[in-house]
Amino acid sequence: MSEVVDHLAELTGFRDRDVMDVTLVSALRDLVEPLSVAIFRCVGEPGQERWLTRARLRAGDAVASADSLWAEPARLPAAQDFPHRQQAMATRTVLQLQQGDHWVTLFPIATDREVVGVLEIESAERLQNASQRMVGSILRIYHNFQGLLDYSERDTLTGLLNRKTFDESFLKALADSQGSPAEASNDDGRRHGVEHPRYWLGVIDIDHFKSVNDRFGHLIGDEVLLLLSRLMRNSFRFHDLLYRFGGEEFVVLMRCEDEADAGHAFERLRLNTENYAFPQVGRITVSIGFTKVRHGDTPATAFERADKAVYHAKGHGRNQVQSHAELVAGGHLQEATQLSDVELF
Ligand code: GH3
Ligand code: MG
Ligand code: MG
Repeated sequence: MSEVVDHLAELTGFRDRDVMDVTLVSALRDLVEPLSVAIFRCVGEPGQERWLTRARLRAGDAVASADSLWAEPARLPAAQDFPHRQQAMATRTVLQLQQGDHWVTLFPIATDREVVGVLEIESAERLQNASQRMVGSILRIYHNFQGLLDYSERDTLTGLLNRKTFDESFLKALADSQGSPAEASNDDGRRHGVEHPRYWLGVIDIDHFKSVNDRFGHLIGDEVLLLLSRLMRNSFRFHDLLYRFGGEEFVVLMRCEDEADAGHAFERLRLNTENYAFPQVGRITVSIGFTKVRHGDTPATAFERADKAVYHAKGHGRNQVQSHAELVAGGHLQEATQLSDVELF
């Protein structure tokens, strides 16, 4: 019993979801002693879902393995290749089945909004009822704690991430794009043939939003914000980080190959917004500015570049996507001299 309590204390001692998932599988490996235990999250667009491994431990593993949150979806196993996991999610019930010489027990993992994945336990013997109940209870604590995290990290109106969490994920992305300090490199993130992921930051501001409030009232205004957040979810990929930054200002931190791909993604949101019929209000447009996240950036410097591009869009007709780099190249904006750039290169 005290072993269980120890594990629970550890499970709820972190505010980092990655660490929490690893702690959960470690606890269950100690408590249930299975062949393996893993958390799989179902990700991707409807019809093309895939399994992202959040944490996995086999009997002899020293450390848990996991897919990066930014993993290329095409490299992840397809959802339909594991129909029992899908079944556990769809029915929201624990599923137990024999596979060859071992047993697999699947527990659905849900947030307050939806079922997001499964916990999978492989064991030599059928998992006993008492063990199943214990796993179920631990999962409920995990679920409640995740709910608390959501509450502190997410905007209550739209469910998007709030500004508070931006700096931390920005710095994580920056570290990811730079690799280890020893191989930190040029602006392309390339050196010795090593390619590091590239990240882009976009700022989205609704055009003439004040007039929406003035004409239709704040409640309708809030509904527009909610609907726009849905358009954002549909326009970007599952691993892109979406924030509500302030009143009617949104931020996207996305990973993609090049400037053109990033531009297309933001253009898709601009077009989806323009074509959406907002109830009562009708047509709404957004102005978007974006920039590549650079080495030596702070959250504030990258944001400032994207924001300047938004400002340019506002002054040149609104309802458009502007790239900071292109504006600088075209002589429309001046590059701010950053001391950190000078020091680094
Ligand atoms: P622009 O095209 O230049 O961006 O014009 P704008 O009217 O959108 O810009 P401005 O920044 O002047 O106005 C933003 C307005 O957004 C002011 C405020 O009435 C409204 N707003 C801010 N936060 C909220 C909110 O949470 N709910 C609602 N309904 N309105 C908000
Ligand atoms: Mg604004
Ligand atoms: Mg605005």
